[in-house]
Amino acid sequence: MVIKFETNLAFAQAQDEADPLRPFQDEFLYPQHAGQKGIYFCGNSLGLQPKGVKAELEKVLQQWEDKAVESWFEGEDNWMNIHERMQGPLAEVVGAQATEVIVMNTLTVNIHLLLGSFYRPTPARFKIIMEAGAFPSDQYAVASQVVQYGFNPEEAIIEVQPREGEDLLRTEDILATIQEQGSELALVMLGGINYYTGQLYELEKITQAAHQVGAYAGFDLAHAAGNVTLALHDWGVDFAVWCSYKYLNGGPGGPSGVFLHEKHGNNPDFPRLAGWWGYKESDRFLMRKDFVPMSGAAGLQISTPQIIAFAPHLVSLEMVQRAGIQNMIKKSRRLTAYLEFLLQDLNQRGAQLRIITPAEPSHRGTQLSIYLEREGKALFDHLSAQGVICDWREDNLSHSGGGVMRVAPVPLYNTYTEVYRFSKMIGDYLGLK
Ligand SMILES: *Cc1c(COP(=O)(O)O)cnc(C)c1O
Repeated sequence: MVIKFETNLAFAQAQDEADPLRPFQDEFLYPQHAGQKGIYFCGNSLGLQPKGVKAELEKVLQQWEDKAVESWFEGEDNWMNIHERMQGPLAEVVGAQATEVIVMNTLTVNIHLLLGSFYRPTPARFKIIMEAGAFPSDQYAVASQVVQYGFNPEEAIIEVQPREGEDLLRTEDILATIQEQGSELALVMLGGINYYTGQLYELEKITQAAHQVGAYAGFDLAHAAGNVTLALHDWGVDFAVWCSYKYLNGGPGGPSGVFLHEKHGNNPDFPRLAGWWGYKESDRFLMRKDFVPMSGAAGLQISTPQIIAFAPHLVSLEMVQRAGIQNMIKKSRRLTAYLEFLLQDLNQRGAQLRIITPAEPSHRGTQLSIYLEREGKALFDHLSAQGVICDWREDNLSHSGGGVMRVAPVPLYNTYTEVYRFSKMIGDYLGLK
């Protein structure tokens, strides 16, 4: 698909007029700047609040007030079935069967739990492949698991690095590393989209390669869920985890989602760290000894669901379902391509904005990571003062003194006009003609 973009404001406005997802903009609350709606490009970090959240929270508080413990079982919106109300919409987002997903706990906690099932190292098979520069929490979680089993992280964790002078990982290098580790490899555990570069890895190929050497493949989809097309079931991915508060607008510290492929979920002997909420639902309150799991991902539940924390996520999932994840992805690809086009136009006029995110649309989501040299932070601060919210990360790989500005125009609440205004602000600041 060749998209023809133009550098003028009228073009951006016409795109917004024709945008089928436009009505969703009225369903969000926006941070204000100088009495006006600011430009929020930080949906990769914390998605905005849907207006419907307040009413849903009040509903839960009212249930608690009116019926207290009986709210677990009474009414259509009883708390007992809250996970079922989320499974259908969430399964669509990640390309799974409804029984393969569950909402529970928070993200890093779930990384530990799933490692508990999928990382059970032996002296012969104890290695984990990660991407260099993985999100720190993932690094800490994996390293502490390795230590827990008495292995040395330096030896057990194999980090795949970009080649000299490159920013991104090559799939061929990931696959070759998997081959090399062979029978010593227990698990491949990558971020689906790297939080820093915005690179979307080729999850299907990586999964196949892991399986070929007898290892598992699990992914942290914090930056991928609600952002790109996923087909976890068909790809045969063993497990995945993500959070609800980034592209899924589920609220700060909101609950995490988990995918467990049915080949594991339907196996009652699947090893797990168990709790009573994963017990066969019909008999859970018989309070028997000896654990009998629910089948599917629901059998991974440990604790009573956090009904109040789940409420915003219910609202946001309903919106995603109404919008249609494929419609969202279609707009996000176009909006991101438009941002890229305008940044390249600035570069042609003399700017030096180095986009490190892959140019190939199938290898990225909505986020563009723009590498800036030393003076880049001043540009970022200028944009912040103008009411643009995006984020800045120091260059932690090469310690160059520069950094990366991450910009994520998301489909449900960002506009072409905002992308236009953003790039115009940069052009004006740099004094480009
Ligand atoms: C956002 C993010 C986290 C955060 O984990 P929490 O447990 O929710 O604080 C972890 N890993 C990745 C890859 C992330 O992007």
